[in-house]
Amino acid sequence: MAVLAVGSFFPQQGARAGDDAYAFLILDGQKVKWGAPRLGTPAHVRFAFLRTAVERPGSINCRSMRPFPPRLGPNGLTNATIAAEFRGAFATWQSLAGIRFEEVADAADADIILGVQAVPAGIAYADIVPRKRPGADMSEIRKAAVCFNPDFGWKSRFDGNLTIYDVRYVALHEIGHAIGLDHVWGEPGRIMAIKYQERFRQPQPGDVAGARALYGGPTTEPAPAPKPVPKLGLRTASTVAGPATR
Ligand SMILES: [Zn+2]
Repeated sequence: MAVLAVGSFFPQQGARAGDDAYAFLILDGQKVKWGAPRLGTPAHVRFAFLRTAVERPGSINCRSMRPFPPRLGPNGLTNATIAAEFRGAFATWQSLAGIRFEEVADAADADIILGVQAVPAGIAYADIVPRKRPGADMSEIRKAAVCFNPDFGWKSRFDGNLTIYDVRYVALHEIGHAIGLDHVWGEPGRIMAIKYQERFRQPQPGDVAGARALYGGPTTEPAPAPKPVPKLGLRTASTVAGPATR
């Protein structure tokens, strides 16, 4: 049976029951979200498609990632198709909760990086790196990655064949992990169910309730600007001139 997995955490069992049931991702005993570590507060998150290989030592999932190949899987999905499906998935989550996504060109500037696994495993994984806060019950997500298995068949629609995976559905699911949601065990009627299915291509009431619990409802107000992400190396004299930064 196909399983969409995320690692480096212990599943939270049965947070709630019913159609609006959801589960928070728990990492090192703490709920996680982007932005302020308070439930119901908005966030601004940048994502990028990898253009070069990335090694992420210390990560359990997506440890070694590559850009999406020019043609993905037996159906030969193009980069343009894959990008359109991911952008649609991000836009959908943004439309449902107080989290705003911005695409950036350089993975070094991104909070969430997207690509394929160098060592294929599973269908797809998400990896979440929290900033630990001793004694707190919630922490900020510092970085995340979503990596697809390039050896599987991929498609951009539902066709009833559950061995070929719809990029949009899997992207919605993995982004759900990347914003702090866990699987809901034994509750198939949602994007965050553990098994791949082709019944709906939108987050369901439980998914929406979970995202809104973390980020509040969708808002037209601009979310707080994120803190600048330090780039690796390449700091020049001109960029360090002026007021001290940290
Ligand atoms: Zn999953």
